[in-house]
This record gives sequence, C-alpha cells and structure tokens, in this order.
Amino acid sequence: MTTAQKILCVLYDDPVDGYPSTYARDGIPSLTSYPGGQSMPSPGKIDFVPGELLGSVSGELGLRKFVEGLGHNLVITSDKDGVDSTFERELIDADVVISQPFWPAYLTADRIKKSRNLKLAITAGIGSDHVDLQSAIDNNITVCEVTYCNSISVAEHAVMQILALVRDYIPQYRLVVEGRWDIADAVSRSYDIEGMSVGVVAAGRIGLAVLKRMYPFDVSLHYTDRHRLTIEQEDELGLTFHPDVESLVKACDVVSIHCPLHPETEHLFDEKLISKMRRGSYIVNTARGKICDKNAVAKALETGQLAGYAGDVWFPQPAPTDHIWRTMPNHAMTPHTSGTSLSAQARYAAGVREILENWFNGNRIRDEYLIVQGGHLAGTGAHSYSEGDTTGGSDEAAKFNR
Ligand code: NAD
Repeated sequence: MTTAQKILCVLYDDPVDGYPSTYARDGIPSLTSYPGGQSMPSPGKIDFVPGELLGSVSGELGLRKFVEGLGHNLVITSDKDGVDSTFERELIDADVVISQPFWPAYLTADRIKKSRNLKLAITAGIGSDHVDLQSAIDNNITVCEVTYCNSISVAEHAVMQILALVRDYIPQYRLVVEGRWDIADAVSRSYDIEGMSVGVVAAGRIGLAVLKRMYPFDVSLHYTDRHRLTIEQEDELGLTFHPDVESLVKACDVVSIHCPLHPETEHLFDEKLISKMRRGSYIVNTARGKICDKNAVAKALETGQLAGYAGDVWFPQPAPTDHIWRTMPNHAMTPHTSGTSLSAQARYAAGVREILENWFNGNRIRDEYLIVQGGHLAGTGAHSYSEGDTTGGSDEAAKFNR
C-alpha cells in the first residue's frame, strides 16, 4: 500500500461559452503506433471518452476516478500565476505536478524551493521548458513528458500556417466576411509555394514530419539539427543539411522552427539572425515563443525583412493583451492550440495516466518520456535539451487580464 500523494494538476479554463454538450464529430481515428514505430500511450485503463474535451478544468485529463480510487489527493486548478495563486499555495506540499504547455504552470527555482515534497513534474504534452530544468536537476526532481503525443498535430498546424502565410490566406478570409470582392487587394501579397526553399530548424519528431508533409509541394527542403538524419532519410526527401542555423536561413524562403527551448536556443532568432535571412522570408514558430526575440520579429515585419510570421507559441503564456505579436502586421498567429486538438488530448491524457500508473507502482517511466531523472538530463532530455533554465520572465504571465 503506497502512502497518499498529492497530485496538483494545472489545466486551462473551461470554454467561456460553456462545456460542449455535443461535438462536431462522433469520435477520433484510432491509431496503432507513431511513425517510426514508437508505441502509443498504454495505460492499464482509461476513464474518459477519446475525442472529448479533457485539457480544461472540468475535463480533468480523465484522472479523478483513477487517482482518488487509489487514495491519493487530486487538486485541479487553472489559477497558476502570481504568489497568491492556487497553484503557488497548493504547491507547498504537492508530490506531483501536472501542467500543459498551452497554459503552463511555470515551475521556477523559487517555486521549486518552496515545494518541499515535489518529486515529479509531468508535462501533459511535449516541451518541458516551463520547468526550470537546472533546478529540477539540482533538486533531484523527475521531469517527463508524453513524447510524440502531439508531434503530428503540431506538424499539421505548421504546414497550415506555412501555406496561410505564403498564400496570404487570413486577409482573404477577412475580405469575404466583410462582404467584399476586391481581388487585386486580396492577391497583392499572395504567392505559390511551389519552387520555394523551405527549411526546418531541428528535424526531430515534428521537424521531420513537417519535411515529409512539405515534400509533395515540389519545394526544395533544408534542415539543420544537432543530430544529423541518416543518408537514407536525406535521400528520400532530397534534403540539404546545414551545419548551423545561419547557413539554413540564408538558403531558405520559409523557415519553420521545431527545436525545444533551452539555453542554446533562447532568442536564437534575434535581430542579427533575422537580418541574414532573405528579404521577404516567412517564419513559422510552433516550437516556443522565446526562441524568437519578440521585438526583432515585429520590427522585421514592419520593415518588410520578414513577409510574414505565424505560429502558436508566445512568452509568457497567456500572452499579455498588449503583446506586440497580437497587432504586428502580416502575422497569422493562433493562441497555443496546435498540440491540444481533441485528438491530441486523448493521447496525452492516456500518456499521463500511463506515467502515473508507473509512478504509483514504483515502475520505471519509459526512457523516451524522460527529460530529467536522477539529477541529470535523461532520455529525450539528454538527446534534445541542454542543462540550464529558460523560465526567466515567466512571472509576467500574472499580468494577463481576460
Ligand atoms: P524531438 O525531441 O523529437 O525533436 C527535437 C529536435 O531538436 C531534436 O532532433 C534535437 O536534436 C533538436 N535540437 C535541440 N537543440 C537544438 C539546437 N540547438 N540546434 C538544432 N537542433 C536542436 O521533439 P519534437 O516532438 O519534435 O518537439 C520539438 C519541440 O516542439 C518541443 O520541445 C516543444 O518545444 C515544441 N512543441 C510544441 C507544441 C505546440 O503545441 N506548439 C507541441 C509539441 C511540441
């Protein structure tokens, strides 16, 4: 019999228009494995309906029956920012924290210092930069995520946004809604992507999926990564490898960013790097907002150095109402949604349940889910991150007002 643990779970708010009573579709496709063969999340059981909203407070990631059935305590809140937040108060004696990158509960060094029992931080999704990984390393906290759960979801969003920018979809849609038919206005920034050069920064699970999805568009494909792909993978897609990001951006018209946020990539796209890009380049960033310098992006859109910027990731999150990316020209931003489609939610809810089942039973967590364990980067963390902290400035999230 394990002793009772306190599981503190931070989820985004329920829909402002009310929790759905019906859904647009009757279910989601059932997948048997991820590309490359990694197995799907495999909990002993699930207590939710795949395809229903699980990532907001009332969805509870489908965990309550399971966690409370084992005698543990489950606290769920969306109130995550500031010293008076429910998260900060409940953290003091929590054993496990669960958080989604879309509505990240920033686990800064300060908060880790205050949480005397914390042993495990689970990312319900992918990307654990909202945790001060250096502090997790120093305090022997295990950090893990549900690797692959939404990689394809994000790849689909990135391809959508590449096309939205190059073809200039958003203003054309707006024209229709406004009852207009001004074709010349509509096409004055619209191009075909055929023949362009498209590159990804990092060709991991998401970056490679983007390259595969862009291949049929008859573009030339480029990538850079700290781990080079195999010759067979490069040949299959006709990829050009670049040893560094500067070489990549000089060769591309469109750059899609897919590396994690860690000290090597924080503010990688600054004014200097953006100035080396071809005039009129497009950037799509579905990786992390802080990989780009927000003011440098806005300025480059104003001057025309960038023809467009899209993505779904901001810093901090939620983005303040006056965040410059909300109002800069020629952007096609969404809030952080790409990895939390109803399809993705079912996979990461199952993955979190699998992790908790193993945790409560004292079994090992799969290597590919691990970011930090035993005072070191481990598993996917050792492959894709570097040590250090990138949460600086996250307290700004407390300024968000609905
Ligand atoms: P992955 O671990 O499969 O791939 C990451 C790749 O980045 C690896 O190939 C690694 O070698 C490369 N990399 C790391 N540091 C680099 C550097 N300095 N220069 C070049 N390459 C570098 O992870 P993934 O599933 O492809 O996800 C990547 C990232 O996408 C996540 O860490 C997360 O930040 C982001 N993400 C966003 C969403 C969303 O909803 N927008 C969802 C999932 C993931």
